[in-house]
Amino acid sequence: LSQEYLGLFDTPPSRTENGLALAFVGAVFVAFLAVLPVANIQLGEVAPFIPTISGIIFVGELIVASLLFAQATVFRSRALTVLASGYVFTALLLIPYALTFPGAFTPGGLLHPGPNTTAWLMIFRRWSEPLFVVLYVLLKQADSATPPDLLRAPPPVILCVAAAAALAAGLTIFATVGRDLLPPLLTNRRDLIFSSIFLLNMSMIVLTAIPVGLLLWRRTSILDTWLLVSLSTVLIQSVLNLPIHGRFTLGWYFLFVLLFVSHLAVLMALIGESNRLYVRLALSTAAHGRERDARMMSIDGVAAAISHEIGQPLTAVSLSASAALSALSRPRPDSAAAIKSLNDTIRAAQRAFAVAKSIRAMFGDRSNSVTEFDLNDLVRETAALLDREMAAQKVSLRLALDESLPPILANRVQIQRVLVNLLMNAIESLGAADRRSRRIVIRSEAADHGAVRVEVSDSGPGIAPEAMTQIFEPFFTTKPSGTGLGLSLSRTVVEIHGGRLWASRAEEGGATFHLELRHVARPARYSDDRAGAAAG
Ligand code: ADP
Repeated sequence: LSQEYLGLFDTPPSRTENGLALAFVGAVFVAFLAVLPVANIQLGEVAPFIPTISGIIFVGELIVASLLFAQATVFRSRALTVLASGYVFTALLLIPYALTFPGAFTPGGLLHPGPNTTAWLMIFRRWSEPLFVVLYVLLKQADSATPPDLLRAPPPVILCVAAAAALAAGLTIFATVGRDLLPPLLTNRRDLIFSSIFLLNMSMIVLTAIPVGLLLWRRTSILDTWLLVSLSTVLIQSVLNLPIHGRFTLGWYFLFVLLFVSHLAVLMALIGESNRLYVRLALSTAAHGRERDARMMSIDGVAAAISHEIGQPLTAVSLSASAALSALSRPRPDSAAAIKSLNDTIRAAQRAFAVAKSIRAMFGDRSNSVTEFDLNDLVRETAALLDREMAAQKVSLRLALDESLPPILANRVQIQRVLVNLLMNAIESLGAADRRSRRIVIRSEAADHGAVRVEVSDSGPGIAPEAMTQIFEPFFTTKPSGTGLGLSLSRTVVEIHGGRLWASRAEEGGATFHLELRHVARPARYSDDRAGAAAG
């Protein structure tokens, strides 16, 4: 997950998500085609149908609204605020819709409705859905020009909900008290006036086509994809509405089922996506924290070691160089003394260089303790240590370990650091590549003369041939936030243990790192022989 993507509204959909959305719209379309020829078959009236389905959709829309309001508040997004308010509004309109529906609660409907009240409420609802999405897309575009400003005041959620409620109440009053101002849509409680309904449905098709077009053109996020799904279903509903003659027909029931199913799909997708985003963000935050800790620890250690160990030879460099200078700047220059001082300078400089190398090799581990251990155990332990990183990048790991491996004598902490390094590099290379199969294989085997070998292979993009040797040089990195020290340090640690570390092309095209250690891989001691070990 890139750090730039923060929520549902800016994370682009993956190919799977696009595929799922498309499959859903396809399934709805197939169902529509199947129902079309039989849409006007008259069925019986089921009194609890409207209250039940309205109740379910009401709850679903309020959940979507609360998800959107939460994101709008965190990211100070006007676009999301408007969209969330739209969901509150359409949800609230369902209350008078169900109450006034004739036969649902009382034969004539509650709130003193006229014969057309309920139909008009549904039409208000269906007109407003595309309008809110258009507003959302336009505001989103306007917002994307300015960077997100988290210091901006949070959106007035309560005010928005109140406004949505007021609008819903106003339209309800209009459809009940002012019902005579609205053109009739039904001749009785069952049969629709075809011409009026036809015109209204055409207006809805045109109205819905606008946000569908906008989203197809400007679709950038997971949320956009699912809004598009929702609107495509609305579009299909409006088309199916055209040939329907009356309430309680097969097609009429199917419209509600469609509405319900599309809401359910969008709701489940949004909840699933926000959970997934949350988990991914949590994982990457944890990983960042750990990385920072590790870096701080090693930086602390290195800084202390550098100032302590290199200070002394550097003082010697400067003292010997000044001695040489003064020997040469006398009235009668003493060239023998100057040569001696300059030789001292060179030796001190070499010492400083060797110390720097050995500090790098010892990096943070002062214990220097050597123990006998099973390399396979260490591999398993290290893999378990990184299982969260692997899960976050959807990497599958296979271990092919030779159980007859002899134990080795080495600094376990340092060898583990090398393994962590190799594995993290492999995981990062897989994370950077947009590949279907993300695999890491760790093999171990006994080599000649009691040596042991561990190979870490990945199915990532691999290493360019010209970079094969460079990658082991300090500060060589191709990552934006890389230090370029991991491999050079790992190689130094391995070489100090008398082993070898090298890279090659993996069979699957990725990279393989080979780590070879002698059965007794005792590192040279930091304190006794630092210059010798590092130079050697
Ligand atoms: P860093 O990881 O900080 O870049 P390293 O020394 O660990 O430093 O790695 C140096 C470079 O080697 C990386 O930037 C990357 O280009 C390359 N590299 C290391 N491991 C792999 C791998 N498994 N696949 C591809 N490239 C790799």
